[in-house]
Amino acid sequence: MSHKTENTGFICQHCGKEVLPLTDGSYRNHCPFCLYSLHVDITPGDRACTCGGLMEPVKIIYNSKKGYQIVHRCQKCGFERNNKINEDPRQPDDINAITAIMRQNAERR
Ligand SMILES: [Zn+2]
Ligand SMILES: [Zn+2]
Repeated sequence: MSHKTENTGFICQHCGKEVLPLTDGSYRNHCPFCLYSLHVDITPGDRACTCGGLMEPVKIIYNSKKGYQIVHRCQKCGFERNNKINEDPRQPDDINAITAIMRQNAERR
């Protein structure tokens, strides 16, 4: 039996693709295809937030300790959160989607 029932896959509410749980057992909070997330957590994985808005990937930032991170902004309430880019061997974050955001960031400057 699984010790972590909350760590299951989900269907992305933005692109409709099936997202598999991470192979290392940690919690996946954004879609590896379109990189969108959902505003459902106060701390990652707790599902304690009632907002439920789609969180758009708006920026890629580099943190010297945590590496590259995606900045997600909630389209409903404007809340922002940084999330680590995922390198899961089975479903890594789409490098094309990541570079597309980086390019947008560069153009906005
Ligand atoms: Zn998606
Ligand atoms: Zn929100």
